[in-house]
Amino acid sequence: MKILVAVKRVVDYAVKIRVKPDKTGVDTQNVKMSMNPFCEIALEESLRIKEAGLAKEVVAVSIGPSQCVDTLRTGLAMGADRGIHVQSDSSFLPLTIAKILKSVADVENPGLVFLGKQAIDDDCNQTGQMVAALLGWPQATFASKVVLDKDKKFATVDREVDGGLETLCVDLPAVITTDLRLNQPRYATLPNIMKAKSKPIKKMTLEDLKVEVKSDIEIVEVTEPPKRKSGVIVSSVDELIDKLKNEAHVI
Ligand code: AMP
Repeated sequence: MKILVAVKRVVDYAVKIRVKPDKTGVDTQNVKMSMNPFCEIALEESLRIKEAGLAKEVVAVSIGPSQCVDTLRTGLAMGADRGIHVQSDSSFLPLTIAKILKSVADVENPGLVFLGKQAIDDDCNQTGQMVAALLGWPQATFASKVVLDKDKKFATVDREVDGGLETLCVDLPAVITTDLRLNQPRYATLPNIMKAKSKPIKKMTLEDLKVEVKSDIEIVEVTEPPKRKSGVIVSSVDELIDKLKNEAHVI
């Protein structure tokens, strides 16, 4: 069985983001970019499934500008067997990404597609669900545990829901999106970083995949959240109660 993992290049989680002066989006010039953390978890889980002897190949796919190759190299250094870079200088909304991933899945024919539950740049949390719908495959989102049966006919997935954990059984092929507590992704070792340089990355275009890009959504404006007022340190419980009662009027 082959596993396809979608890995997105995003602004590193530790970077304090800045909005562009013209409010058209977030400034990504001279900013550290990394693999989306939920995609790292998706890749780690795929590698563990392969290491358990339940998959033969892990293929990482990234859609975006030429720098996505760096993200794919990181994935190859973690252990993915090969990469697919769908080259485009435009940034796409989830439906277009989902259509592209569906076309890649049609070509690659994987038994499982893993995605992060969300990308930390746009926080959309839509792509996995849309890929599953377009492929007509079952989906298990927000996975915190994934177990494949030995015949690779189905996967048992624990999902994190508001009230606790829900356990689903999905027939394969399926789409799984990963939550934070699924695993702790590995670091790439130096020898593996070197080995990754010779692993293949196939380039594809939207024309190759016959995906038509059209969007019904227009981003009107991106603004920073309002500045929060700084807090105060109180010296006693009495002072706290006084402030809550007479200043904040909450008790
Ligand atoms: P989103 O629906 O945008 O929050 O993204 C959810 C997941 O979809 C991400 O964690 C990735 O696995 C995948 N994804 C989104 N955009 C891309 C992209 N440009 N390239 C590869 N994977 C992507």
